[in-house]
Amino acid sequence: MKAALIGLGQAGGRVAQAIRDTDRQAGYDAIRGVLAVNTARPDLQGLDVETMLIGGDRVSGHGVGADNELGASIMQADINEVMSGLDGIVRPETDAIVIVAGLGGGTGSGGAPVLAKELRRVYDKPVYGLGILPGRDEGAIYQKNAAQSLQTFAREADSLLLLENDAWRASGDSMSEAFETINERIARRFTLVLAAGEVLEGVGESVVDASEVINTLRAGGMAAIGYASAEAASEAGENVNVITSTARRALLTDMSVPDTTSAESALVIAAGDPERLSRKGVERARKWVESETGSMAVRGGDFPLPDEEEIAVVVLLAGIADSPRLEAFMERAKEASEKTETETDRKTAFQNEELEDLF
Ligand code: GDP
Repeated sequence: MKAALIGLGQAGGRVAQAIRDTDRQAGYDAIRGVLAVNTARPDLQGLDVETMLIGGDRVSGHGVGADNELGASIMQADINEVMSGLDGIVRPETDAIVIVAGLGGGTGSGGAPVLAKELRRVYDKPVYGLGILPGRDEGAIYQKNAAQSLQTFAREADSLLLLENDAWRASGDSMSEAFETINERIARRFTLVLAAGEVLEGVGESVVDASEVINTLRAGGMAAIGYASAEAASEAGENVNVITSTARRALLTDMSVPDTTSAESALVIAAGDPERLSRKGVERARKWVESETGSMAVRGGDFPLPDEEEIAVVVLLAGIADSPRLEAFMERAKEASEKTETETDRKTAFQNEELEDLF
């Protein structure tokens, strides 16, 4: 699909840029425009995409810290400016708009639901969120912010894809050392989903296209992505097991929200050289995902990558409200919230009912 990306806040800007870079390097050309929006000027300066500073009159380019209520309030106040900035980014051919944000901070956490609501009001295109959940050892305020944002963002967007920072962090790495690696991993997975249908070489009837991604995400609520890859034999017939075992690994060991195996709908994408992709393998993987997730709406297809020696399998799960990991996260956030409530005076950033309603 052809997507417009909006990166909100520090994590949002960096991850949006990583996705655009991966898309360009692979030559998919699915990402047609990127805008990074932030209240902190320094976080915009290192980016190589179009940028916009908001809230300059209130925080003078210094950011909102982890105050997501202030982040929401600034997005609300500057919404017209942001919408105008999207004029050249969201185009007639755009299939979907994606808002990328870290849910634990301030600008992205607070701003994303507000922007999603306005985009859905104005555009007749699906609006997806890509939300990054804080690591377990980040502070209580991050957990609390993420829990608040998670629920409102999922409600305001057509679907909210979640990624846990802890899911791909190598042990021993500090969070900042790990970001670059995590961002690349997010980009690799997410780009394959967004670019589905954009690679025209070797197109056959089993190629996944934008409408299949959109229909899968129609389940709404929250979504997660699994990914795994393996060396493939040169003959398609020898790759049936390669595809099924790679799909198993994608779902069971490498989900962006680990341990999530039930979903309302799902999409299995096998990416690789059309000569090596086994249709039987993709069909078996699809059936296996159906039995594993308990969903009757599992789609499947190919992403042709001519001359690629590996086969990668992406499993997109949509409507994952039952995830035990999300439940555990909400529990952790509730405890964190109780802790922070007693420590801080509630700020009075919410001055209008519209925002009150968003959180
Ligand atoms: P904002 O700028 O106020 O929106 O706040 P941030 O984007 O810094 O959000 C903080 C959350 O995002 C924390 O949970 C961080 O761990 C996470 N984060 C910050 N930068 C990155 C990044 O480059 N990559 C990833 N994956 N997470 C990040």
